[in-house]
Amino acid sequence: MSDELLRWIRPEIKKLAAYHVANAEGMIKLDAMENPYALPEALQQSLVKRLSQASLNRYPDPSAAALIAVLRQQMGIPVDKAVMLGNGSDELIQMLAMAVANPGACLMSFEPGFVMYRMIAEFVGLNYIGVPLTVDFTLDRAGVCQQIQQHQPAIIFIAYPNNPSANLFDESVIEEIIRLAPGFVVLDEAYYPFAQASFMNRLIEFDNLLVMRTVSKMGLAGLRLGLLCGAPAIINEINKIRLPYNINVLTQTAALLVLENSQVLDQQAEKIRKQRARVYMAMQAMDGLDVFPSQANFILFRVCNKPAVKIFDSIKKAGVLIKHMQAESGSLKNCLRVTIGSEDENTAFLQALKTAI
Ligand code: PMP
Repeated sequence: MSDELLRWIRPEIKKLAAYHVANAEGMIKLDAMENPYALPEALQQSLVKRLSQASLNRYPDPSAAALIAVLRQQMGIPVDKAVMLGNGSDELIQMLAMAVANPGACLMSFEPGFVMYRMIAEFVGLNYIGVPLTVDFTLDRAGVCQQIQQHQPAIIFIAYPNNPSANLFDESVIEEIIRLAPGFVVLDEAYYPFAQASFMNRLIEFDNLLVMRTVSKMGLAGLRLGLLCGAPAIINEINKIRLPYNINVLTQTAALLVLENSQVLDQQAEKIRKQRARVYMAMQAMDGLDVFPSQANFILFRVCNKPAVKIFDSIKKAGVLIKHMQAESGSLKNCLRVTIGSEDENTAFLQALKTAI
């Protein structure tokens, strides 16, 4: 391909590296914060029936009204707040970013944090400000306030709990950020089922607060469905950017049925929280690791006396795929991240880790 043709691509896009998804074929997959459990057989049967009756010849309900009604009820969304849906919360982040991408505007988040905030800022031409967390991954109150005052961000993303550190930030610092922010503050509660701490019922206190959730970590990552909740005047604006039929018929149908049976997902989340305690304790008992506390469905840990990549490769050879954070320096230096799987998957991981270190 000639450079002549590629000159039409924006230079900032050419500079980007695409979001990398590792090949996990045949592996125990503990790299992407997925729920390890399938749906129970009876629910699978009902799903097949409902999906077979879905009208694939028609466009989906553009407002996804039935699905939003069940989400409102399940997630305790305040009645006078509005809800919009995205094809995964990734799409909601993108719509928010597009909506605020005035020339010179900036999107603020925290480092280390979820990489899509920075990537999407770059896609849409927003300046990205990544405020460093402290060495133990907490919000540095004074530093954050100073950065907000200096940069006046159009939007701030706070992952609660944070990815990749898995901790919940101090609620009082978040409150201060919401009060100080000149623009929107999005609490990204992707890992809510494992933390059970939320700003959802505080939407009524702050006009500039938006709360984002996803069904991905609850066990429905394949459906691609996220939701954004907040003041109707704000959601109405963001909604103008949404492509009309972004939530397809199969997703609407399947999500509706599974959420009507949400006790299944609640029980799975409870099992994952129990397994998290088990994996954390077992890892803490191993020499040569710094294991960070987790309020999410994954655990971040540092390898002390060997290169993390060696441990990663050795675990991979044993058939278990985790995530290498690839940090040469900073607070993620020599760190790996493992997703909590089923009991057997976790046993395989712990065994492989023990052998590797
Ligand atoms: N927010 C955070 C903090 C995440 O870690 C992730 C996924 N890794 C997402 C959002 C994206 O979730 P979804 O599958 O809904 O796009």
